[in-house]
Amino acid sequence: MDNKNLRPKIAILALGGTIASLANSRIDEFYSAAELDIEHLVKEIPELKMLADIYSEQITQIISHNMTHEVWLQLAHRVQALLDQDYDGVVITQGTHSIEETAYFLNLVVKSSKPIVLTGAMLPANALGSDGLRNLYNAVLVATHPKAHKQGVLITFYDKIYAARDFSKGEEQGLVGYVCGPQVYFYYKAMRKHTDCSDFSLKSLIRLPKVGVIYGFISNSPPILTEDIRGIISVGMGKGYQAQAINDILASMSQQGVVVVRCSRSATIVVSRDPKLDDKYNFIAGDNLSPQKASILLSLALTITQDLHLIQGFFYEY
Ligand code: ASP
Repeated sequence: MDNKNLRPKIAILALGGTIASLANSRIDEFYSAAELDIEHLVKEIPELKMLADIYSEQITQIISHNMTHEVWLQLAHRVQALLDQDYDGVVITQGTHSIEETAYFLNLVVKSSKPIVLTGAMLPANALGSDGLRNLYNAVLVATHPKAHKQGVLITFYDKIYAARDFSKGEEQGLVGYVCGPQVYFYYKAMRKHTDCSDFSLKSLIRLPKVGVIYGFISNSPPILTEDIRGIISVGMGKGYQAQAINDILASMSQQGVVVVRCSRSATIVVSRDPKLDDKYNFIAGDNLSPQKASILLSLALTITQDLHLIQGFFYEY
C-alpha cells in the first residue's frame, strides 16, 4: 500500500477444488466436482470486508488433479497483472491435490515481492466441520500482513502458513508461521530463490517443455516414454537410485540430449551428486525437491538453457 490510510486491495482468484464443492450429505467421503463460485464463498465471510477491499474472479472451476500447464500460465499472467496494478496481494483458492505444484510454479515465475497466498479445503463447503471458509479468511488475513512481503508464495491451512517450495499435501514441511485468531506470526523465511529474485519469467513463455517421469520400483517391464520429451525426472529409491537396467535407459537418453534429474520416491530425502552416476552419465541431482516440483523446475530451466552445469545450479538455488 502506498498510503497508510488506504485499505489493502486483495484479489481472490478461484480455480475450484473441495473448497468450492458440495457433498450429498454432511458426512460423505466422496463428492462431485467443484461447483460453488468464488463470489458465493466471499459472501459467506462478511469478516473479509474488515480486512480489505476484495475483488474476486473465477479463473476456472476444476478438481485439481485436472490442473493443466495452460491454466497455470493463465493464472500466473493474471496474478502478475493484478500485482503490477495496485493490488496489495493475491489469494488463490484451489484443490489440495495439486496446490503445492501451482504454488511452486507461481513461486518461480511471478515477479513481485507482494504476498501471494494459496489455500483450499479438506472438506466440502457443506461438510460437518468444514475448513474452507476459515482457510479463506486466513489466506486474506495473511495476504494483508506486512511480513508476508518478500516471503515468496505461501500456502495456508488449519491456521498454519507454509512456504511453497517445501509444502506437500500430507506432510508438515515448510512451516513459516501461524495464524492465531486475528493475528499472524512469522518465524521463518524460505531460503531458496523465488518470485522477484527468480531467473525464470513469464515473458514469451507460451508452453512448458515436456518433462517425463520414470518411477523406480521392483519391476519387470520397461518404462514407457513419449518421443518429444526434453527432460526426465527419475524417481529413484533412497537417494535417488534406479535399477541398473533403468540407469542404462536413462544414460542413453542423456546421451541423446534429454536432461535427466534424479529425485527420491521417499519424501524429505536429499539427493546429492553421486559422482559414479551423475559425473559418469551427466545426470542432475534433484536435491530434496519432490519429483512433482522437480518437474516444474526442470521444465522452466529448459526454457532458458540446456547447459547441465547451469541446470544443476538451479537445483541448488531454487
Ligand atoms: N479433494 C481435493 C481438494 O482438496 C480435490 C482437488 O484437489 O480439487 O480440493
